[in-house]
Amino acid sequence: EGLSMSGSSTIAIHADRDVYPSRAVARPIYQTAAFWAEDAEQFAQVAVDPRGHDFYTRYGNPNHAQVAAVVAELEHAEAAMVTASGMAALTTAVLGLVSAGDHVIGQQSTYGGTASVLLNLLPRLGITTTQVDQTEPGAFERAVTPRTRLILLESPSNPLLQITDLRSIAAMARTRGVLTLADNTFATPLNQRPIDLGIDLVWHSATKYLNGHSDVSAGVLAGPAEILNQIWDVAVLTGAVLGPFDAWLLLRGIRTLPMRMPRHDSNGQALAEALSEHPAVSRVHYPGLPSHPQHALAASQMRGFGGVLAVELAGGYEAADAFIGRLAHFHRSASLGGVESLAVHPAAMWRGMLSEQDIAASGVPLNLVRLAAGTEDTEDLVTDVLAAADAVAAATGSD
Ligand SMILES: *Cc1c(COP(=O)(O)O)cnc(C)c1O
Repeated sequence: EGLSMSGSSTIAIHADRDVYPSRAVARPIYQTAAFWAEDAEQFAQVAVDPRGHDFYTRYGNPNHAQVAAVVAELEHAEAAMVTASGMAALTTAVLGLVSAGDHVIGQQSTYGGTASVLLNLLPRLGITTTQVDQTEPGAFERAVTPRTRLILLESPSNPLLQITDLRSIAAMARTRGVLTLADNTFATPLNQRPIDLGIDLVWHSATKYLNGHSDVSAGVLAGPAEILNQIWDVAVLTGAVLGPFDAWLLLRGIRTLPMRMPRHDSNGQALAEALSEHPAVSRVHYPGLPSHPQHALAASQMRGFGGVLAVELAGGYEAADAFIGRLAHFHRSASLGGVESLAVHPAAMWRGMLSEQDIAASGVPLNLVRLAAGTEDTEDLVTDVLAAADAVAAATGSD
């Protein structure tokens, strides 16, 4: 009690205190697929309302409930639930909220998996979708039809770091009776609380910052208990259940989120500032830079700007590839949000996965590199990216 008055660091450490209380300082791992009942009466009771009772891990597990308690408090949500991945959170939510004949609106710049749900999965189920330019304030309202049930938002967007005006879209959606579901993966509740801005539901790839150590795939959803119950009914059927040990690792990761995030923020800011001055770089996408076209909007809804930035290399596709090849402290990897710095060249990664048309439709330039700053020393990361940019500039100059 009284935790909602506390700061994020206290919440991250204590919000699950009363969820399966135990005298163990670190929470025990409930590595079990099922729970037994004392007698037939208890079994019948639990089977009728498995929520909040020990029944079967696909329906819920103490380690899930502990993560959910902390995430709900951090996101200023009434409730939360966990899933086996970020994508499981998204697909379960969408399947729980929309039906054939309904219409869903999403963003043009959005995580690739989210784009594929909008472009491929939902239309196959008879759900129509529209993707709009989220930098254009009126675009969402213009796309609303009488059949629109849900708007999928993501800010900052992956990988272009575009900002969506969460406050105004939430207000518009509310007057039209449309639900809003925001991907808060890049910001985390430390930097942005969509529910405080009027958004109905939040989801995360907890694989990223929430866990923070690149060793778990997980997802979370947070929002009103009544809506989450509707989604939970589908989660039980789709069965994308998080393993108890992974839930335990996720809780352990979240404990230090409030300490890690400011370091990701300051590393991201330092890299963006250093690279925006470099002649090998033609453009830096980072909402913390005053030169970002939506910097003022970002500052009005975020407390920090995160560790992810995208840079365009003046020398094109080859220069982007060469730049990553020269980095010493960044692994070439598609993920982000862990303590270790990672870099990816989306156009190169997608070459084998997407058609040329889909790459063009994503709006991601061929010369773009996404950098995810870890928690290493700022000086080391800045020195590393500047040396790589110098090497690319020198190679281009000598052609
Ligand atoms: C990684 C990511 C996802 C997908 O999450 P998984 O845990 O990989 O399923 C969704 N949204 C964003 C913004 C991401 O970066």
